[in-house]
Amino acid sequence: MAEGSLPVVIVGAGPVGLAGASHLLARGLSPLVLEAGPEVGHAVHAWGHVRMFSPWRYNTDAASRALLEAEGWAAPDPEAYPTGAELVRDYLAPLAATPALRGRIRTGAKVVGIARRDHGRLHDGASRDAAPFVVHVEEGGAMEALEAAAVIDCSGTWGAPNPAGAHGMMAPGEAAQGARIAYGIPDVLGTACATYAGATTMVVGAGHSAMNAVLDLATLAEQAPGTRILWAFRRPLDAVNFGGGARDGLAQRGELGSRAQALVESGAVTALAPFLIDRIAQDGAALVVAGRQEDRTAEVRVDRVIVAAGFRPDLSFLREIRLSLDPAVEATPALAPLIDPNLHSCGTVRPHGEAELRHPEAGFWIAGLKSYGRAPTFLMATGYEQVRSIAAALAGDWVAAREVHLELPETGVCSTEQVAEATGSCCGPAKQPVLVEVAATAGCCAPAPKPQAKGCCG
Ligand SMILES: Cc1cc2nc3c(=O)[nH]c(=O)nc-3n(C[C@H](O)[C@H](O)[C@H](O)COP(=O)(O)OP(=O)(O)OC[C@H]3O[C@@H](n4cnc5c(N)ncnc54)[C@H](O)[C@@H]3O)c2cc1C
Repeated sequence: MAEGSLPVVIVGAGPVGLAGASHLLARGLSPLVLEAGPEVGHAVHAWGHVRMFSPWRYNTDAASRALLEAEGWAAPDPEAYPTGAELVRDYLAPLAATPALRGRIRTGAKVVGIARRDHGRLHDGASRDAAPFVVHVEEGGAMEALEAAAVIDCSGTWGAPNPAGAHGMMAPGEAAQGARIAYGIPDVLGTACATYAGATTMVVGAGHSAMNAVLDLATLAEQAPGTRILWAFRRPLDAVNFGGGARDGLAQRGELGSRAQALVESGAVTALAPFLIDRIAQDGAALVVAGRQEDRTAEVRVDRVIVAAGFRPDLSFLREIRLSLDPAVEATPALAPLIDPNLHSCGTVRPHGEAELRHPEAGFWIAGLKSYGRAPTFLMATGYEQVRSIAAALAGDWVAAREVHLELPETGVCSTEQVAEATGSCCGPAKQPVLVEVAATAGCCAPAPKPQAKGCCG
């Protein structure tokens, strides 16, 4: 570390950032967690209505549990599956309130720049590695410069969703129609129910977030007549990875894919596969989503679009840090081949730590969800192992830094073949691509129904 008396700054008070702080404390080091949102677990809070696919036993970190248990915390049932909101309420919030961590977390503190003191990115010299970091923080409308001995960026990717456009950029018209386009997983059975009930919604994306959105809309459709669901995939349907089903080591995750696939096969959800989006425009009350199905152009009329096409890391505040990132995945070159979805259909990744996460900038790491760059398969348990290893390295315990402490559950679809080949064997018989023209329906149900206990608008 550059300067012993300075804190180790952690960017983001998500599950991995807080775990990092716990491991640093256990090593006698001094963490300072800076969180942009008004509360810890701010990103998890945003998907609080979603039930997690991993049970509690995979969702808590060992060093954090030790801090909680010292305060008499009763661990939740290890086999139960919490929602995101329960993860915050029953784990992250009590963890942040422990005497050990309280006072080491600043909320409402957004990191907008990180650099090495007196060194721009270009400036070499023996002094570079010895210089502390300078972290620019926006808090309450003011900007402050803090110094840090080391920095662990655990800021996640929730704030930078991928757009709907075919080319990885926003499609023309996408920004202009933003009022009717949601990114991520809106709470369609709860707070956003009135928006989606009775409407025709196109879900864009193929991962777990898209599956969650489609399943929630399907539940809504059972209760709200006229609710229709289109699901747009980049790939032909026979190349879509719906997961390992019963073979998945995480039963809930396997079931998520199986249920989503069943909805497509039953026709309850209309698959547009492949469908690449070129333009989104308004036509009267409808949104017209124009795209291509292989070599044909097509237009689909809907009321709403949910883009659940994954996320990308925000590298904007790391412009002065010397990063080494794989050009496709935007993870470190050592990690990228382990998680590249072009090479792996599955998402089972061997545990890794400080060595794989290292950048040319000594004393700087990206950990947690953001460390996976654009790859979609991150598990919290992986992040806990990452920060355990980084904390060990910062304490100079290189033996512990290199150890692997984790067995991850299998996804049940593991292969290192190309995805298109690998998924053909686990997705059942190939489906013919379907393309439909759908007339827009009235945008919204009548008076906003009250969300019920389970979040359904009924
Ligand atoms: C819907 C959904 C369901 C998931 N379910 C599971 C599951 O069942 N099991 C599992 O293991 N994983 C799951 N994941 C994946 C992953 O484990 C979670 O996303 C997890 O929250 C990642 O933790 P993190 O701490 O790396 O990032 P985050 O939880 O995203 O936390 C990052 C924090 O950094 C803050 N931040 C961002 N930018 C800044 C900044 N510039 N300055 C300061 N603070 C900043 C954010 O506000 C946020 O609080 C799921 C992900 C999603 C999206």
